[in-house]
Amino acid sequence: MDEIAKFKEEILKDYPRLAKESEFSFACHPGVPCFNGCCRDINIFLTPYDIIRLKKALAITSGEFLKKYTIMPFDKNLKYPVVMLKMEENENKTCPFVAKEGCKVYADRPWACRMYPLGLASPRQEKNAAEEEFYFLLQEAACKGLNEPKKWTVAGWMENQGVAEYDEMGRDFKYITLHKFIGIEQIFTPQKIEMFFMTCYDTDKFREFVFGSSFFNRFDVDEETAAKIKSDDKELLKFGFQWLRFALFNEKTMKIKAEIAEAKKEELSDRQKRHNGD
Ligand code: SF4
Ligand code: SF4
Repeated sequence: MDEIAKFKEEILKDYPRLAKESEFSFACHPGVPCFNGCCRDINIFLTPYDIIRLKKALAITSGEFLKKYTIMPFDKNLKYPVVMLKMEENENKTCPFVAKEGCKVYADRPWACRMYPLGLASPRQEKNAAEEEFYFLLQEAACKGLNEPKKWTVAGWMENQGVAEYDEMGRDFKYITLHKFIGIEQIFTPQKIEMFFMTCYDTDKFREFVFGSSFFNRFDVDEETAAKIKSDDKELLKFGFQWLRFALFNEKTMKIKAEIAEAKKEELSDRQKRHNGD
């Protein structure tokens, strides 16, 4: 992780910042001499939406996916849990999804694989933080695709790679991970870390939590939303982000049922009375 932090610093300091209309040359196809060469020994951070796309493509549960295909790096500087794709334990540390003919999960490949050779940096997570995020080109000598004549703009590449849906689903996640409460200090108790992990990454377990606990007795959730989140992972994830904003930052993104709110009020008032010795 130290290497990743160093690389991040280098990007912020030295890499040319690209705008949506900036141009670069690139093409990746079985004819390039390095074909498949980059799908190994690589750090790929998975977003919550990456996981629901991949587990659906593989027809397994989020729990099975996390167990089989991911690792959770430990770093004392991490403010929230992150999940990375686990490389195979072979000599080349290949990605579990790479095959001779290319990526086996191409239609559902993670955001980072879609973006390549572009990266996105968010200076706001850094100390000098008032700047906006920017794109940059990963100019890796081993990537011969960068010598191909095909020209792209940043916007054109992202459209071609279907990044928009990933960005849309990533917006609320980013809101949470860049939240000032997370940036300023470590606010997560072990219970909150577990809640964050389940809600963001273990969608099927989160669904069990919502439908198998007293959740609906405590929160007002309309029937239409309840029906959608029961069967639709994307809707469940969006709902989960609202829930996390409530649970982590005390935002009014969930509505507590009137009778529960009333009972809480009474409990607080009783406690206050006891405290005052009334
Ligand atoms: S998911 Fe696909 S594109 Fe991404 S590293 Fe693995 S094989 Fe390569
Ligand atoms: S290194 Fe570049 S050109 Fe080669 S396979 Fe990877 S992305 Fe394609």
